[in-house]
Amino acid sequence: MQSDPKNILGVDLKRLSAGNRRNTEEANRFAQYSVICSAGVITMLFFGIVNLISGNKSLGIFVFTCCISLIFGWVLVYLQKAEQGVYRFNTFFFAALMVYLIYLGGDEHSKLLWIYITPSIMFFLLGRIEGSIGTFCFLLFVGLYFLMQEEIPGGHLYGKAFAGRVMLSLCIISVITYFYENLRSRYRTQMEQKNEELKVENSQRRLIEKSLRESEERYRAIYEHAAEGIVLIDFSGKIIECNPQVQRMLGYREEQLLEKDIHSLFDPENLAQIPSQLEKLKGGQTIFIERRLKTSSGDYLLCEQSGRRISDGLIILLYRDISERKIAEEALEQANLMLQQLAIQDGLTGIPNRRKFDEALTLEWQRMQREKLRLGVIIGDIDYFKQYNDHYGHQRGDECLKSVAKTLSENVHRPGDLVARYGGEEFVILLPDTTVQGCEIIAERMRAAIESLAIDHAESSVSSKLTMSFGVASMKPEGDVGPDVLLLAADKALYKAKGNGRNLVCRTEVSNGS
Ligand code: GH3
Ligand code: MG
Ligand code: MG
Repeated sequence: MQSDPKNILGVDLKRLSAGNRRNTEEANRFAQYSVICSAGVITMLFFGIVNLISGNKSLGIFVFTCCISLIFGWVLVYLQKAEQGVYRFNTFFFAALMVYLIYLGGDEHSKLLWIYITPSIMFFLLGRIEGSIGTFCFLLFVGLYFLMQEEIPGGHLYGKAFAGRVMLSLCIISVITYFYENLRSRYRTQMEQKNEELKVENSQRRLIEKSLRESEERYRAIYEHAAEGIVLIDFSGKIIECNPQVQRMLGYREEQLLEKDIHSLFDPENLAQIPSQLEKLKGGQTIFIERRLKTSSGDYLLCEQSGRRISDGLIILLYRDISERKIAEEALEQANLMLQQLAIQDGLTGIPNRRKFDEALTLEWQRMQREKLRLGVIIGDIDYFKQYNDHYGHQRGDECLKSVAKTLSENVHRPGDLVARYGGEEFVILLPDTTVQGCEIIAERMRAAIESLAIDHAESSVSSKLTMSFGVASMKPEGDVGPDVLLLAADKALYKAKGNGRNLVCRTEVSNGS
């Protein structure tokens, strides 16, 4: 019953089954139906013509009617206007024709052929359950006819042996057809299921392959165009793969790097740390370090290296050239240092400024408080400096300030001592762990040193040379008082020195100090 659908009546059934039929089961059924129809039409035409010629007109017309019905039914199915109904209708026609033919009798052999194929047609067209019911009804009608043939007028009379043979043959054919069709249908369903599964599997595999290919292409593009140099090494350090950026950075060709031991690219000074770093990488840790890599010209390139194990035997190393960044960072650091220096340095004299002094005063105050020691302060002020400026000019005044700053700085020696320009022609000296007597001695030394500079000062009322007055104070930082008390005391002492005739060192007693 199976046939190539393309060859039936010149109709492109393959196109129909593939395009318009819902599934292969339906397409197969249509193909079978078409084969049955073709066989039926050809046989019926032949059978009809033979009956007309032999004068059996009524049978001839009935057969032609069946033939036209078959063709009409096939067209309906072909146009997809009807399916199940047409199959049932035409099956009924076959069965009816068979019963009628048996009733009329005559050419037994040709009828027998149709009787034999009727169960098959029913199973094929109606399906297993309906085919079984249809075949059972057909058998019932034929059997009834054989039993009651003598009571039905005008019908053909069959012998008992013939009737028995037909019924037995029909039963055997029906049972064989039923099992055959059952098996075939089961096999077909299984095959179709397998086919569907394979199709799904195939399309899934193609999708996976496509996405794998795309992802591989994406990673390859990242690898090739990355700004970082990428190197894959095995656990012994042998280079397995390296991207173009590494080759550009180091000036090697790919074949010069492949199979090379990565350690040969490292600075020999860093080789000692490598085993421990390798152990960490093997253990799955990520390592970020700065690494100097040897270029093809023999120079070393400073790189930032990040490394990580990516599989049981492979480590990925990423390199970024940071030599320029490092230079810029160092320059920035230098500039910052300079700015910091400038912020605490007096622009004219180069000694620390008032800001630096204030910072140091706070720190030393706290330190002396902790260590229960005295903090000493000297404030020095140039005598009649306004007149000096007015007489010699500002430029000479500035030169004079520089000499004074230098001389004062030369007269302190301990690491914590600090000489700063407090403002204008006023200088301040911080002396940790120094008693007021000690401060007086240093101030006196400074006063004498300034005097021995022998800078002419024609307008001074105290001497013909430049002189300075000093106020000193020292105290233990105790209780709630802050360092202003100490400064105030030293300032008071300076005021006293000015009042007592200048070019003097005076001190103020602070209540809790000496
Ligand atoms: P006294 O003996 O009482 O201290 O008198 P003085 O003239 O020194 O004090 P006064 O405070 O009246 O004058 C301080 C002068 O110091 C004013 C200004 O001419 C001078 N001066 C302050 N800062 C600078 C500076 O940076 N450069 C120069 N050349 N002169 C300065
Ligand atoms: Mg002054
Ligand atoms: Mg002054």
